[in-house]
Amino acid sequence: MAAVLAALYIVCHGLALVLLPGHAQAVSFSFLIGAPLLAALACLWRMLHSEARVGWLALSAGMLLWAGGMALNMYQEIGLGTPDATPGVSMLLYVLYGVPLTFAMAHPRYEPWYLVVIDGALALLLGYLFFVHTFSFATMSDAPEQGINSLRLMFDIENLFIAAFALVRYLASEDASRRIFFRALAAFAWVYMGVAAYINHVATEASYGGLTDLIIDIPFLLLACLALRRGDAVAMDTRRRLALAVRAGSPLILPAALLVVSALMVEAHPHLAVVGFALATLGSGLRGVVMQVRAMERQDQLDVLTRVDALTGVANRRAFDQALQAEGSRARRSGQGMALLMVDIDHFKEFNDRFGHPLGDACLRAVATALSGCATRGTDVVARYGGEEFAVVVSGTTRDGALALAETMRLAVERLRLATADPIGSVGVTISIGVAHVAQVTSADPVALLAATDAALYEAKRAGRNRVVEGRLPEAHAQP
Ligand code: GH3
Ligand code: MG
Ligand code: MG
Repeated sequence: MAAVLAALYIVCHGLALVLLPGHAQAVSFSFLIGAPLLAALACLWRMLHSEARVGWLALSAGMLLWAGGMALNMYQEIGLGTPDATPGVSMLLYVLYGVPLTFAMAHPRYEPWYLVVIDGALALLLGYLFFVHTFSFATMSDAPEQGINSLRLMFDIENLFIAAFALVRYLASEDASRRIFFRALAAFAWVYMGVAAYINHVATEASYGGLTDLIIDIPFLLLACLALRRGDAVAMDTRRRLALAVRAGSPLILPAALLVVSALMVEAHPHLAVVGFALATLGSGLRGVVMQVRAMERQDQLDVLTRVDALTGVANRRAFDQALQAEGSRARRSGQGMALLMVDIDHFKEFNDRFGHPLGDACLRAVATALSGCATRGTDVVARYGGEEFAVVVSGTTRDGALALAETMRLAVERLRLATADPIGSVGVTISIGVAHVAQVTSADPVALLAATDAALYEAKRAGRNRVVEGRLPEAHAQP
């Protein structure tokens, strides 16, 4: 439907040129302002229906700048009646239209607002340097031909830059909304580049009002059609590494563009070029620092996740294994004793069967909290050993201290009440604990401690549950 309307638009443009030869320029200008305006409206509509909002908004801004450039062009050529040979403000708007597009390409997903602000500042600076640079061509009245040639070169560089990066981002985008956005941007940019090259290098003599103008409508109408198409791009199987490289590298696009423009300005505006170099470096450096801090924070969070049991919040089995080894080494060096407690909830299968798994989970959390509440020394480690079993590594303790701690834990759990849905109203659980202590740690002790607490726990279960039983270590480890 949109494609048919677009074709109709071009036919109308052509017909109007043929039927109104006396007003050819005015006709052409109207259609050439209308096409980017339609594209801008389509992008705005898409913005409301897409997750890639910033991108569509920036694209729409680019289209408006282009339409503004064409409107000024019309004003210069028709309003004043004196065709202006030197590139004026209208040219400037054509150049500036690329700034929001560059911003959209440099904008990765899920960025915090302050990174968008840094990008926005770099994009504004880029726009300003473009402005100064273009203006210096516009005022080259003694050598207008040279000025126009330099401008054409700038257009070519800008168009190629946008088209190439849009294509890379399209190929590397992983989610559907970005894929649709970058496909539209890339398709527009490549067609626009072809049209601009033809107009700037082949059909250079023709002024507005000829049939050549029809091809200028094409990229804008294409963009409008692509923006109006809904939900058609399926997420492609992008190579993960390429996607990551592009996501990490795209923030470099703005500083890189700034560096290129600054380099072009070295001769005419050395001071501004230095400012451009400095801010491009500073901007990308600042971004790099922010990204690194965020990556380190994320790494910290992941480290915590790999050590914590998701259900109960106490240390998980991996952290327990590490803590047991670390405490074994520490006790060996310091000559202090250590103890290990193995805790198992009594008849927990029955508990689950009777009260359901959700209350079972709540019970596991309550027991973990109660055990942690008893292990008040910072060096003690309470861990979920597996299922409904917990283990406690107790550092620098005596045999009596370890047994007392185990008893405190047993009592703390015995006192727990969990609210139930049935008429009983609340329910409690008990735990059995196997304890093993060693006064002088040798290298084999952590393993021997585990075996001894396991055996003691088994003994506690056999003896009737809800009790603390002390385990015996083999002779070599047993000390007073
Ligand atoms: P015993 O007194 O001999 O220890 O009996 P028990 O029923 O506690 O022992 P058993 O090993 O037969 O059952 C352990 C139960 O723990 C079985 C399983 O459903 C439950 N369990 C293990 N992990 C979880 C969990 O993450 N959530 C819940 N709700 N239950 C769990
Ligand atoms: Mg068990
Ligand atoms: Mg049990």
